Amino acid sequence: MTALASRSGRSTPGDTRRRLVVIGNGMAGARAVEEILARGGAVQHRITMFGDEPYGNYNRIMLSHVLSGEEDAGGIFLNSLDWYRENDITLHAGVRVDKIDRFAKLVFSDDGRATPYDVLIIATGSRSFMPPVEGLYTPGGRLLPGVFAFRTIDDTRGMVSYAQQDHRRRAVVIGGGLLGLEAARGLQSHGVDVDVVHSGRHLMNAQMGPDGGAVLRRSVEALGIRVHTSSRTTAILGGDRVRGVQLRDAPDIECDMVVVAAGIRPNVEVAVTSGLPVERAILVDDHMRVPDEDEIYAVGECVQHRGEVYGLVAPLWEQAAVLADHVTGANPKATYLGSRTATKLKVAGVDVASMGLQAPERDTDEHVVFSEPSRGVFKSIVIRDSKIVGATLLGDSRKVAYLTQAFDRGLPLPEERVSLLFDLGGPDEEAGVAELDGDAQVCNCNGVSKQAIADTVRGGCTTLSGVMDATRAGKGCGSCKLLVRQVVEWAADGAVEEDPAAAYYVPGVPLDKAALMAAIREQGLRSVSAVFAALAPGGAEDSKSKMGLASLLKMMWAGEYIDERDARFVNDRVHANIQRDGTFSVVPQMKGGVTSPEQLRRIADVADKYNIPMVKLTGGQRIDLLGVPKEDLPKVWADLDMPSGYAYGKSFRTVKTCVGQEFCRFGTGDSTKLGIEIESRFQGIESPAKLKLAVSGCPRNCAESLVKDVGVVAVDGGRWEIYVGGAAGAHIRKGDLLATVDDPETVKLLAGRFMQYYRERANWLERTYSFVPRVGIEHLRAVIVDDAEGLGAQLDAAMQESVDAYVDPWAERNDPFTPGQFRTSLPLEVLPQVPVR
Ligand SMILES: Cc1cc2nc3c(=O)[nH]c(=O)nc-3n(C[C@H](O)[C@H](O)[C@H](O)COP(=O)(O)OP(=O)(O)OC[C@H]3O[C@@H](n4cnc5c(N)ncnc54)[C@H](O)[C@@H]3O)c2cc1C
Ligand code: SF4
Repeated sequence: MTALASRSGRSTPGDTRRRLVVIGNGMAGARAVEEILARGGAVQHRITMFGDEPYGNYNRIMLSHVLSGEEDAGGIFLNSLDWYRENDITLHAGVRVDKIDRFAKLVFSDDGRATPYDVLIIATGSRSFMPPVEGLYTPGGRLLPGVFAFRTIDDTRGMVSYAQQDHRRRAVVIGGGLLGLEAARGLQSHGVDVDVVHSGRHLMNAQMGPDGGAVLRRSVEALGIRVHTSSRTTAILGGDRVRGVQLRDAPDIECDMVVVAAGIRPNVEVAVTSGLPVERAILVDDHMRVPDEDEIYAVGECVQHRGEVYGLVAPLWEQAAVLADHVTGANPKATYLGSRTATKLKVAGVDVASMGLQAPERDTDEHVVFSEPSRGVFKSIVIRDSKIVGATLLGDSRKVAYLTQAFDRGLPLPEERVSLLFDLGGPDEEAGVAELDGDAQVCNCNGVSKQAIADTVRGGCTTLSGVMDATRAGKGCGSCKLLVRQVVEWAADGAVEEDPAAAYYVPGVPLDKAALMAAIREQGLRSVSAVFAALAPGGAEDSKSKMGLASLLKMMWAGEYIDERDARFVNDRVHANIQRDGTFSVVPQMKGGVTSPEQLRRIADVADKYNIPMVKLTGGQRIDLLGVPKEDLPKVWADLDMPSGYAYGKSFRTVKTCVGQEFCRFGTGDSTKLGIEIESRFQGIESPAKLKLAVSGCPRNCAESLVKDVGVVAVDGGRWEIYVGGAAGAHIRKGDLLATVDDPETVKLLAGRFMQYYRERANWLERTYSFVPRVGIEHLRAVIVDDAEGLGAQLDAAMQESVDAYVDPWAERNDPFTPGQFRTSLPLEVLPQVPVR
């Protein structure tokens, strides 16, 4: 658990501010505090927050992106730990509040603390509902290994690491609502085969009717997800871990993991134990105050307001604003009257918008429907007394802004109803945007109104990405990006600037890669700080740009590059890969996956001597020593006396080989020898993203060469095929054939030329699986194989310079770059304990 704040929550003599305590550090709790701060609440209140998750505040909606690997868990934080510090908020992260004493005005938490309050906000959210299914829990009361809820970062990380274990090939998701479909799609990206079991008659039955559900089912099945509707899971089969599920009316499904996404239940235990009024959730009035409690408020998914409990973020943004108006006294008349349940989402990549009625209810209701299942498009609008009372849009949400507005405000509708579905002379997009109310929610995920976007534009920010950064609009599920752009265009009155930043190589230097390299060369800039001084606006350093620049400079200047360690990520500073628990992994080089008894003995001795908790084979045919504390790294390297295997860097890493011609009955080429030669030549060279290579001795491809950045395959006649742009991680792509050549020397030449071209042309962090299709294999063949642009010799020479400049980074063990290089530092976040097997 962590407590963070300048004053660690204790009262400071003379501090007369009211003590504001918030239970729950999720989306509603943090938003309420943001709204309070925006109304000057920090002057009135000394704020303390409790959250039982050991993190800052993150965007739960983005967990689907983390699951699918599109987003890193670190990238979804809304408020970093620094934000709490900067705003003088004491955060008790990883601490659960168990009880409130309303009379003594104290909250009791599971770290033994009693915290006094003057004002209390309960924002405990919900948890996943676990249906009564046999076999869900072990006898000890824990979820059976392989069963997951889908609610938190920890749930998501657990799913990812379980799904990535080799034998986890099949998953069943229980629940075919928003969450279940997102989970199914996310698991697919880890190569897992997924079935969705849904008790409703059609998918997403809370948001749409059967016709829309049928179109959605078709789109979801087209993604390769099997759907079982009207079907109930009765038991989880397995015993020690998940091995299948039993269904009520259908055959069992074998599987290795089960994700339960069968709904949510508000977290009301604290309120119940403390005697606050609870029905389905904690009761609140129109001021978000708990009835009969002057100083206790509640907000978010844990509240019930006028009989409604909401399970989406849009209502909580409205609730948080009203709550803040009251807590700060900014507007004592503010009232929350409930939210319209208009939803706009992207589910498993499909745009879904729904509001009000799903289908006509009265004989006089008009129903305008368009359905094109083959394109996954479905649109339905229910009209009563010439007003929209319901709409469902699937697969095409272009009219959503106008329809939401018409639904909310009861706007008069065009005679020609079809123009509600299509742009046929009805209100066009711009008119639609102009007509939106200022407080109309444009980005549901982050609660950003049209007014907030317009204010940002009028404040001088006239690029789309600038507005997105400043407001967070469009940074959730992404379904509103088009609307955000339209609002920006409308507010800028046509003066939207093209976003040059989109083409910058790094955000802090306003140049694309080619121009940046030309300027660096022209001005002889050899260090990151020199680049900032010469090329960044006002010479300002930008921490997000440093790693990319360091890599580029090292590539360009090889031995003449001036290394500045603060420009590096921790992995590159200590030449090892930081792990979840803050220790490091050490992977010595084993060229082509070949080792010797002597090396193995040394590795074993080192593992014993330093109590290394885990020794593991990597996917790249090397040995990983996991769990090494930072301060032991130099000693471990010294005792190993082997070079670094570069298992941490944005650089060339490894060449996987099969046993090849020498030993294998099928081999036509000496893959091991060539793999070792390639690894010796290109070891450690910097690149925009990691490079993994392989060489196979025949088309059986035991080294998996077709899914590597550069993969080489021996074919008949002593020839070699070279593939580029393959991947088998979060993205799976078969590499494109670059060339078939006659001898290993040409393989090395062309592989090197390709890598140099990639190093010089690719965007920072762009893997070859994106670069190759972007540039086009025909173009690459022309430049690299046919030398159509006369660049060959130049590329070869630049690569040779980098090869000549290679120095084993582990040699630094005897001569640390800085005194603190291998000293432990306190982690900024609570790091999880990694189990030792
Ligand atoms: C995977 C996923 C995808 C989603 N996608 C969408 C979407 O696309 N659109 C949308 O509108 N909504 C979506 N949602 C729903 C949305 O995330 C919730 O509506 C929102 O997070 C609710 O906010 P909250 O603060 O009320 O609850 P939470 O964000 O759950 O926060 C509550 C916090 O309080 C903590 N807590 C609970 N009890 C205690 C205690 N006693 N002491 C201390 N801390 C406590 C909890 O651990 C939690 O961290 C999604 C949810 C999930 C899980
Ligand atoms: S790829 Fe061919 S040569 Fe290499 S091990 Fe497999 S079968 Fe043998």
